Amino acid sequence: MTTRPSRQGARPVRQATGAMIAPAPERTGKEGPRKPMELPASITVKDLAGRLGVTPVQVIKQLMRNGIMANVNQELPYEVAAVVARDFNFEMKDIPKKLTAVAGSKKSARFREEPSKDQVIRPPVVTIMGHVDHGKTSLLDAIRHTNVIATEAGGITQHIGAYQVESDGKRITFLDTPGHEAFTAMRARGANVTDIAIIVVAADDGVMPQTVEAIDHARAAGVPVIVAINKIDKPGANPEKIKKQLGELGLVLEEWGGEVITVNVSAKKNLGIPELLENILVLAEVSELKASPNKPAAGTVVEAEMDKNQGPLATVLIQSGTLHVGDVVVVGTTGGKVKAMLNDKGKRVRKAEPAAPVIVLGLDTVPQAGDILEAVAGEKEARAILEKRGLQKQREAAAPKKAASLDQLYSQIREGQVKDLNIILKTDVQGSIEPIRLSLEKLSTDQVKVKTIHSGTGTITESDVLLAIASRAIIIGFNSKPEPGAKKMAELEGVDIRNYSVIYNLVEDVEKAMKGMLEPVYEEVVDGRATVKSVFPSGKKTRAAGCQVNEGKLVRAVLARVVRAGKVIHQSTIASLRRFKEDVKEVATGFECGVGVDGFNDFVPGDVIEAYHKERTS
Ligand code: GDP
Repeated sequence: MTTRPSRQGARPVRQATGAMIAPAPERTGKEGPRKPMELPASITVKDLAGRLGVTPVQVIKQLMRNGIMANVNQELPYEVAAVVARDFNFEMKDIPKKLTAVAGSKKSARFREEPSKDQVIRPPVVTIMGHVDHGKTSLLDAIRHTNVIATEAGGITQHIGAYQVESDGKRITFLDTPGHEAFTAMRARGANVTDIAIIVVAADDGVMPQTVEAIDHARAAGVPVIVAINKIDKPGANPEKIKKQLGELGLVLEEWGGEVITVNVSAKKNLGIPELLENILVLAEVSELKASPNKPAAGTVVEAEMDKNQGPLATVLIQSGTLHVGDVVVVGTTGGKVKAMLNDKGKRVRKAEPAAPVIVLGLDTVPQAGDILEAVAGEKEARAILEKRGLQKQREAAAPKKAASLDQLYSQIREGQVKDLNIILKTDVQGSIEPIRLSLEKLSTDQVKVKTIHSGTGTITESDVLLAIASRAIIIGFNSKPEPGAKKMAELEGVDIRNYSVIYNLVEDVEKAMKGMLEPVYEEVVDGRATVKSVFPSGKKTRAAGCQVNEGKLVRAVLARVVRAGKVIHQSTIASLRRFKEDVKEVATGFECGVGVDGFNDFVPGDVIEAYHKERTS
């Protein structure tokens, strides 16, 4: 059941709408006398909430209890606002005792927002995240099996990457790949499909590192969260402990006057699922999710595969417009004509509206998850777009990525490109996080705000790198190194990972970067190695080495060092390079040559001459 202290002890009742909504509290007299209040002839939900000192979510829920669906900017007439205010213990003059005049399913339609010509309310798209084993998959299954859309009875959802259920006559779309990695991977590819994140926390276990990660990933995306406190059937379940832990993470729960809704559920025993769905719908109302179905379709691929018989199959979540069989589409760098579409029950459909997941048949090749689908006017236009995209892709592959980096920060701040310096902070021990976070956030100026969007202990993971890509963040490791996979991904995507072991240096670097004073970091790259075989005079006082190039090449005038028994004994440049007494510019692997190193005359056979150059890494 939803946790609302204002209604603690109240038993849930089934309303005319069919939703499980707990009734408003009986007046016991303990609340104190009603506070006097005046209201205008009409007032928006948001303003009313402000006057009542409660959240818009609380007002919307109270309206729902009266059978009225409203969103946050909706104007409420005096008589409706007054009844809600009364429920919150305010006293008005001349108010109706009951909302009979407007309540009830038929009449409540009056208060639904009249959809504008183009935009209509669309179902919310929900992702489930949380720590491993806390019940994400079980919850997705429980929702899928308890709420199969009645009109499509008999159809048990198939796994196609997303499915829809119905609650209170309204649809909700769930993405069927749980976890914040999948969520952020989509974002890193530029696809933002999720409207609401459900964070699952097992009531017998509590907030764990991946719970915190999931919350941070949702926050970084600006996606509102609902916490599903799962496994409440277990004897050791302690929802109150979980709420306390959530509070410690800075989540202000609804029952404390905040925006974060918690719902107690058991995926195993099917408890609390209707309440969870109801709260998703409330949050969706507040978020005012709209889309126009009367446009050419646009959507995002959530899953794709090659089917032996049917060819490329792509599950697409439609986000705006309507996709029809026969439409010509471009999807990432592929395209085609929609031959057929299947919904999440495996049923053939001729059209798909906003927030509907459908399998699209008829694409030329298999697209990638995260690719955007767009319906276009015809095949000619599709070809032109795809050609352009192909070229663009080649260009992007050749050009360095424009990820966030400390080194470029100053110019980006000056160009007004950066307003927030997003930081992901990984440390070896928990105790280092807070002092570093505070020191970094103190560096914020009027132009740029330093924000730690995620922090944690342990190594730098691929999930951290994905978050950095999706949120244009810099990763700072304090005594924490990246895992090999994460390092590779960061290099490929141009994500800046900085390692420090002294807090002062870390904070100083960020401060310098913000002021454009950061010294670039160079890395030495070896171009070639040659082994000294003999030594001979090359001038009056100088000696050269007769060498064989074993690796790469030696180039005149580049940086060089002489290595003896693994130790560098001299560093300067290659002063002369000769083959058969002739000056040459470079000598490649396998060839012999005479090498003079600036300021060095003490070669002995066996020494190694390394030619190298410095490359800027930041
Ligand atoms: P995931 O890793 O987050 O997807 O977690 P799963 O859905 O795979 O669940 C992990 C384990 O917890 C499984 O053994 C489930 O049967 C069990 N589990 C999930 N939900 C509940 C619940 O509400 N109550 C109980 N008792 N067990 C649950």
